[in-house]
Amino acid sequence: MKQFQCELSWSASRAKEWERCQREYWYGRYASWGWWTEQPRGDKYEIMVHKCLTSLPAHAGDCAHRAIQRWFELKRDGTTMSTKELFEECVELFRDGWRQSAGDDWKAKPNKSVHLDEHHYGREIPKERTDMARQLLERCAKYFCESPDLASARDAHPDSWRSLETMDTYQFLGTKVYAVPDFAFTDGDMLHIYDWKTGKPREDDIFQLHTYALYACEKWSTDPEQITLHAAYLGEGKVQSVAVDLNQLSEAQDRMSFSLREMMDAHYDPDVDDLMMENWVASPEPRKCGWCRFRGICPEVVQ
Ligand code: SF4
Repeated sequence: MKQFQCELSWSASRAKEWERCQREYWYGRYASWGWWTEQPRGDKYEIMVHKCLTSLPAHAGDCAHRAIQRWFELKRDGTTMSTKELFEECVELFRDGWRQSAGDDWKAKPNKSVHLDEHHYGREIPKERTDMARQLLERCAKYFCESPDLASARDAHPDSWRSLETMDTYQFLGTKVYAVPDFAFTDGDMLHIYDWKTGKPREDDIFQLHTYALYACEKWSTDPEQITLHAAYLGEGKVQSVAVDLNQLSEAQDRMSFSLREMMDAHYDPDVDDLMMENWVASPEPRKCGWCRFRGICPEVVQ
C-alpha cells in the first residue's frame, strides 16, 4: 500500500494563508494530517471538517469556474452554451452545493462536499446575500458569453488550448508548486493565460498569474516574453491584461522564493517529527479571526 507523506508544497493561495496567520496555515496544512486513519474519529477529523469549509462568495465563484469549464468542454464537443444555459448551469451547481451544505449530506464525504462556513457556524444568510450571489452569477455568465473582451478566448480553437482548469505542479527550489491556470491557449507564438475572477480586483492577482507564467515556461518551454496574462473580472465586467516582462517575472520568483523558504524552515512531517507549536505563530485580529474557518476550534481566536 502506498505510503503518503506530508510534503511541503507551495501555491499563491497557500502563501496568502501563511501571510495571514501561520496558525491558520498549520491548521490547514498539518493539523488534520492522517485524519483518515483516526479511529475513532477525533480532533484530526474535526480539523479536517473545518479545513473544508467554504464561504458563500467562494462557493458562487467555484460554481462560475465549473460552469465555464463545462462551457469549454461542450465547445470541444461541438456545442456552444448560450448565456442563459451558462447561467442555469451556474445556478444548478450553486443549488447542489447549497443542498449538500444546508442539510446533513456533507457529512457523508466532508472532504468532497460543499459545506458553507455560514451554515457550520449558524450565521444567518439573509435573502439579499443569496440574491447577490445569483446576480453575480448572472453577470459572470453574461460577461463571459457576450463581452468582446473575451472573444479571443471564446473563439480559440480547441487545438490551441493548453490548459483548462487542470491542476498541475512544477518544481521550484526543489519543492512542488501548484498551478491551476483556468484557461490557456496559443495564438501564433503567443500564449494567453486566463484567470477567471468573481471577486474584486486584488493586488496579488497579477502575482498569482506570474506564478502561472513560470509554470508555462517549465511545462511548455514557453518564452516568457511571449506570454500575456489576463485577469478576467467576470463580476465586474473587465479584464486586466499584462504582457509578461522579465523583471516582473524575476520579482515574482524572488517573492516565491522568500515565501517558500519561510515555509521550509517550519515544515515538519507530522508522522515522524514532534510538533513545535512555537513555529506556528497565531496572529489573532478580529478582521482575520472573524472569517477564519478555524475560529470554532482555535484557542487564540479573538472576536
Ligand atoms: S482564529 Fe484567528 S488566530 Fe486562530 S487560526 Fe484563525 S486567524 Fe489565526
